[in-house]
Amino acid sequence: MGVLWLDDVRAADLETVGGKGASLGELTEAGLPVPPGFVVTAGTYRAFIEEAGIDEELFAAMDVDPEDSAALKQASETAHELILETPFPEEVRQEILAAYEELGGGTFVAVRSSATAEDLPDASFAGQQETYLNVRGEKLLERVKECWASLFSQRAIYYRERKDFPHDVVDIAVVVQEMVDAEKSGVMFTSHPSTGEPRLIIEAAWGLGEAVVSGTVSPDNYVYDRKNGVVEEVTVADKKVQMIKDPESGETVEVEVEEDRRNARVLSDEEIEELVTLGGRVEDHYDSPQDVEWAIVDGDVYMLQSRPITTIDDDEAELEEERESENGESGDVLIRGLGASPGVVAGEVRVVTELDQLDKVDDGDILVTEMTMPDMVPAMKRAAGIVTDEGGMTSHAAIVSRELGVPAVVGTGSGSRELVDGQVVTIDGDRGTVTEGRTEPAEPDHEPVEEVRPKTPVKPMTATEVKVNVSIPEAAERAAATGADGVGLLRMEHMVLTLGKTPERYIQDEGPEAYQDRLVEGIQGVAEEFYPRPVRVRTLDAPTDEFRSMDGGEDEPTEHNPMLGWRGIRRSLDKPDVFQHELAAFRKLYDMGYDNVELMLPLVNDAEDVIQAKKLMQEAGIDIEKRKWGVMVETPASAIMVEEMAEEGIDFASFGTNDLTQYTLAVDRNNEHVADRFDELHPAVLELIKDTIATCREHDVDTSICGQAGSKPEMVDFLVEEGISSISANIDAVRDVQHEVKRVEQQLILDSVR
Ligand code: PEP
Ligand code: MG
Repeated sequence: MGVLWLDDVRAADLETVGGKGASLGELTEAGLPVPPGFVVTAGTYRAFIEEAGIDEELFAAMDVDPEDSAALKQASETAHELILETPFPEEVRQEILAAYEELGGGTFVAVRSSATAEDLPDASFAGQQETYLNVRGEKLLERVKECWASLFSQRAIYYRERKDFPHDVVDIAVVVQEMVDAEKSGVMFTSHPSTGEPRLIIEAAWGLGEAVVSGTVSPDNYVYDRKNGVVEEVTVADKKVQMIKDPESGETVEVEVEEDRRNARVLSDEEIEELVTLGGRVEDHYDSPQDVEWAIVDGDVYMLQSRPITTIDDDEAELEEERESENGESGDVLIRGLGASPGVVAGEVRVVTELDQLDKVDDGDILVTEMTMPDMVPAMKRAAGIVTDEGGMTSHAAIVSRELGVPAVVGTGSGSRELVDGQVVTIDGDRGTVTEGRTEPAEPDHEPVEEVRPKTPVKPMTATEVKVNVSIPEAAERAAATGADGVGLLRMEHMVLTLGKTPERYIQDEGPEAYQDRLVEGIQGVAEEFYPRPVRVRTLDAPTDEFRSMDGGEDEPTEHNPMLGWRGIRRSLDKPDVFQHELAAFRKLYDMGYDNVELMLPLVNDAEDVIQAKKLMQEAGIDIEKRKWGVMVETPASAIMVEEMAEEGIDFASFGTNDLTQYTLAVDRNNEHVADRFDELHPAVLELIKDTIATCREHDVDTSICGQAGSKPEMVDFLVEEGISSISANIDAVRDVQHEVKRVEQQLILDSVR
């Protein structure tokens, strides 16, 4: 039989219908609300490959070294070609289409892979195979084959090879189920996923469950105490997007959530009660805690999947452990992200969801949060390590933790939801892992200032200056200890965002003098520490969303894309009544004798921006002939227009490669989903930099880099060869950059005399 109806399927049919099919059959049998459907059995897949005679070639292609990624890719491609290009035997085709007709032909269905070894206690294949939503008509046949082919994704082949799981014993069934056009959906853990306590946890978002399962949206979180029968905790998330069926094409699409529903609670108390009742029935049926996918449409709740909870002890983690044990890492990998600040450290988790919870972070704890904010810096300093859900290598969390010398893993997606208070974990800020337990290497006490002090008695003398970046004035001492030739970028954002009020509100409440003085204090600390070495201070560049949580933030405009919005010089020129106080702070510093302070303008595009800023500087009493000032090159426009800006008298142009990369490649620097595409060494970015340096040299304008990429040896090599005037690196990279610059300079000298 090519297909089996879910009504007729039981747990014992696992070999025929796979883990997912068996579980849906069981739930249907237990009288739980499961959307109707059928399963294209594993036998059908097996008959397909055997009768078409592609089986031998298919399995032979799998004989590869799993560590050889090119071979793995080739094996996967061969399998896909074989399966997708072999036509269906006519009777199988007819049988599937007939079942589809019976389901009410023309309806939208979900097509879901169900591998026969999936969800077994000794194998965790879950999530390795494909699911297709909103499929209709003959397209179903294609999707079934694509599910079969997904048994041979690179990840699946790798997994089986590493687990010594023969490729030819795993079969795949495909569940075809009436599509639930969910208004809301999510997942539910019938007991606490880490501790097993009788606490039911529900995650819920608008639209189809894909958004929650894939981590595209931060869902609401509800905790229900099953012992006392009460909703214990409700955390409503900002649900920016949802997945829905496009009414025109029928495809699943991601759309923005309407403004009034974004921060609205998804589940009512009654709906929670209903889910709790169903969750209890599922758990009773299986006699073990379950992880359930659910959906609600027209007030009816549906169960879409149920699996035993294996969070702590699953095989995937074991595999990770094996993979990394050679490197000395042990313990189960709980979650992964980007290694943003190096070092391995262990401690107790403290999840911070609100600013008023910062006190719970003590010395040596691991601070876990969605995204760090300037107000969190004191807690970040106490923390032994930092883990965030969001953010890339140039996010606030990454920049500040590096400056503080605190190991950090950013962009984990769900760290603040998966890790729990008091849990002991080890974070590895190089590899980007968070593992269970305390597995850090024994290390002498951490001395952030001493660590960065040059170890050789004399720091390498280089013609290209090597400077340092500072984002929080408190890091000044550590930054100066590096022996850097100055500060290539002092960001003003931190000083302003820690005021607790937007600049406008602060000035209104406390007066312009107070605002100016707060800026003077922040800059002075760094200028003093480095005097007479130059300190390049950048005027304010905070996107509007960072102001939102502050007093006065309610007056900020709502922008769809704050990164492309009202920030940097754009805002300053539009609001000269606020900008003038920043400029007045510079003037005060000059009057106090800090002639090492330089002024840098962020996010300029062209000479017009420079002309306007120059005028305001002069109005503020800054002698633009005497003082050093310049621009950041952060947009392709500014790189292309640098000649015109040079003609306006800038002293320097500094590459902000964090932004230059994001705007050149159209890759949001803070979006962990595209972090692998954020490449500062992309030829397009390098081309812009190269041309800018050449133009600036012709006009006697100094060039510099102050983006994160200035700490990368490959970038350093490129820039020195192109003739950049200075490189500004992260505190912990200064020493290496000094040596790298010296090496390249000596090489260039040697090359010229040989
Ligand atoms: C940059 O864009 O590279 C930069 C240094 O500025 P910021 O990190 O503030 O974006
Ligand atoms: Mg920038």
